[in-house]
Amino acid sequence: MTGVLIRDCNVGGKAGYSVYCEGGVVATVAEGDIEVPDGTEVVEANGGSLHPGFIDSHCHPFEYGRLKRSVDLRGATNMTGVRLRLVAGVQRARPGEWVSGMGWDQETFPGREMPTRKDIDDVSPGNPVVLTRVCGHIALVNSRGIEALGLAAINGAEYERDQNGALTGIVKEGALEAVYEKLPRSAERSAADLQSVEAEAARLGLTTLHCIISPDGYREELEALASLQAAGDLSLRYRVYIPPEALDHLGTPGLKARLAGRVRVNGVKIYADGSLGARTAALREPYSDDPSNSGILRHTDEELQELVERVDARGMQAVIHAIGDRAVEQAEEAIGRVAGTKNPRRHRIEHASLVPKDLRGKMAKHSIRTTVQPLFITSDVWAVDRLGEERSLDLYPLKSLLKEGIVASGGSDSPVESLSPILGMWAAMTRGVTESTEKLTLEQALALYTSSAESNGFDEVAGGISEGSPATLTLLDSDTSGMHPALFRKAGVLATIVEGNVVHSYGAA
Ligand SMILES: [Zn+2]
Repeated sequence: MTGVLIRDCNVGGKAGYSVYCEGGVVATVAEGDIEVPDGTEVVEANGGSLHPGFIDSHCHPFEYGRLKRSVDLRGATNMTGVRLRLVAGVQRARPGEWVSGMGWDQETFPGREMPTRKDIDDVSPGNPVVLTRVCGHIALVNSRGIEALGLAAINGAEYERDQNGALTGIVKEGALEAVYEKLPRSAERSAADLQSVEAEAARLGLTTLHCIISPDGYREELEALASLQAAGDLSLRYRVYIPPEALDHLGTPGLKARLAGRVRVNGVKIYADGSLGARTAALREPYSDDPSNSGILRHTDEELQELVERVDARGMQAVIHAIGDRAVEQAEEAIGRVAGTKNPRRHRIEHASLVPKDLRGKMAKHSIRTTVQPLFITSDVWAVDRLGEERSLDLYPLKSLLKEGIVASGGSDSPVESLSPILGMWAAMTRGVTESTEKLTLEQALALYTSSAESNGFDEVAGGISEGSPATLTLLDSDTSGMHPALFRKAGVLATIVEGNVVHSYGAA
């Protein structure tokens, strides 16, 4: 393996440095020019800042890859837009084949009403259709789909019905898995999906993804990771979180050995509740804009505790999706029982969106970690409607979490938000508003996507760039030290280096 020289970069706020990497580690950090062996790959930084490699500590790359080749409904601001895009998807499909799409958001529609199957039936008469909301927690199924799944006979709060008792086509939470199981899948398709996302992630400066595996597609997704790894075709590092139903599958002969290298299975992802957008996040008090509804807990307290204990007993990390304060509380209880005060398995709460002071204190008490998604702050413009003014003060309280000493790392939840860590840091610093006591400094925002994410994923915490630190690095096009937060979103990625390999460089094909 040839070495890599990054010339004229800014390291830790100091300009004019040369950084030479060899054998997967940083070998030399020196001011000015340095001598390097012949054949060294040279990256000209022109004064750009060099950072430890950016990490997305919560994303769904396989889902994003699937979205890239299905009907993309993000940005549609009315049902006409949804219908038009669906028509194109239906035309590409064979008769009777499932058509899937993702990304609609009724909050952006006039009237903000939930769509029903009647809104899409006439444009998809010959195909079953499932269109997932932007949050991933509810979906709209058309009449052909309801028929194909035999849903008419099933009762339950997860299948929405109108005043006449007829299914509206809206399916929620746990019931979605049965729908997704019908979609065609293969390891080859999943591998192609991952590769398209990987290329985009590298361009955005990401070196490592904390990859959430889908409950309905874990066999194909783990096989895709294993075959890409075995073929030497992975350019990024993966810290993998499997669904509980995949725990036994991990024992498949040879699987762990084929994954070893760029992939490490860290833990198990458990869902405690849904999303605020879909009003399925579990709240202590009802929704301000739906007083009869407090959301949905996916598990009883006992079930969740048992799941966490199972994961903990295997020596793995439990990461619990919890958005509403009731769900965060339930997750804390479950983790608290096994974590003591030090939480050696680094169990995390994913999102921890609505987290009032008492719950922040409890997280700190048990050293419970979290991953936060700063772009939710700028996207959830309707949050005050859902929660009211007062509760909204405890929504995404990033600075308050850090003040408690809680280790928080950043993630995109892609495909919910853009994969870009730079946009994530920008949102953490600006929150899209002028006044807020919860804005982070640049240093804190960077830590979300570097040192804290390393720590949250059991990676060696580089704590900066020095001789002997891992050669997993992100080079920006500008000197970002002291840069105004609003400008930071414009920063470009010059090069992405993973374990000493340049996996993206600006201008390269
Ligand atoms: Zn997620």
